[in-house]
Amino acid sequence: MFANDAILTTELARGTALRLRLDAHALCANWSTLARMSGRAACGAAVKANGYGLGSLQVIGHLLAAGCRDFFVTTWAEAAHVDHLIRGSGASLSVLHGVRAEDLPSAREIEARPVLNTAAQIMRWREVGGGACDVMVDTGFNRLGVSREQVADGLLDGLAVETLMSHLIAADEDSAHNERQRLELVELASRVAAKRMSLANSAGIALGEAYRFDLTRPGIALYGGVPRPEFDDLIKPVVSLQAEVLQRRRVSVGSSVGYNAIWVATAPTEIAILNIGYADGYPRSLSGRGIARLDGVDLPVIGRVSMDLLAVDVSAAPDVHEGDWLALAFSLPVVSRLSDRSQYELLTSLGDRFTRVWVD
Ligand SMILES: *Cc1c(COP(=O)(O)O)cnc(C)c1O
Repeated sequence: MFANDAILTTELARGTALRLRLDAHALCANWSTLARMSGRAACGAAVKANGYGLGSLQVIGHLLAAGCRDFFVTTWAEAAHVDHLIRGSGASLSVLHGVRAEDLPSAREIEARPVLNTAAQIMRWREVGGGACDVMVDTGFNRLGVSREQVADGLLDGLAVETLMSHLIAADEDSAHNERQRLELVELASRVAAKRMSLANSAGIALGEAYRFDLTRPGIALYGGVPRPEFDDLIKPVVSLQAEVLQRRRVSVGSSVGYNAIWVATAPTEIAILNIGYADGYPRSLSGRGIARLDGVDLPVIGRVSMDLLAVDVSAAPDVHEGDWLALAFSLPVVSRLSDRSQYELLTSLGDRFTRVWVD
């Protein structure tokens, strides 16, 4: 029936009955808030992992229009995907995993800078001409980055460093690491001829002016995440989930709903079965805890969340029928607490069965 995979993909997409509603206005408002909080520092945007699952092309498009000029992706494949937007825009793109030997052809083609993380990456970059680059310095994360000792020994001398950066371990907590890491980065300023210094992720922006240096690198807060209480009333939700009712049924007293019969009706109950489950990134741990919404009415998720389905008590919504759409409450800080999964995990787990619909 289908001539090729492209057509098959299109047909499948047409059959999709889950929507991720993405609020472009809220995304841009969050960036503007973070830019204002960044003071004199430029405010960039981490758009790795396909814009935290929202879609990096649309995120970059909207944030370019809002005024953002510094973007961060993880890999050269991610950079290639967005290259056409960055090229000629006046914005810059940095690739956080740096440059492996097999990345060199991409690094020549794509308008992006590697964030060099190791002595070997730095040597490799020098060997191919050593153009503009960024450098990650480790200040105790012990993840990626060259050591402060290597920097002191001259590892970066002569390198065209655009941004010298480090990454905070626990900016979402009032941790002693924050100030220690900040001081360690400050110390390096005199040793490295970098055009700019950068330390703060989203949470780091709220730690105060001293943490902002020349460039901030928020990610999660752009997308509606609230990593520190300072952001509580400032950050707007960006993502909302909508699913379709596949079936409505009435359950009598003593009957159970869902796997393992963890929910049993104590009164006759009206149930709607929605076409969403944990395979879509709706946490299974929200079994009996999640909430669907219709016109401001909360409708509890009952029983165990299945892979592709879940049940909602719609006794309070007599007009909900097969084919209707319900929203699922997905406030990132709230769902994170309820599900015991990080706000980052929640966003990046939202699956391909969602049609991502951007609204202004
Ligand atoms: C992901 C990332 C960020 C953004 O962090 P958030 O906590 O999402 O704001 C900033 N810098 C680096 C190096 C990152 O890897």
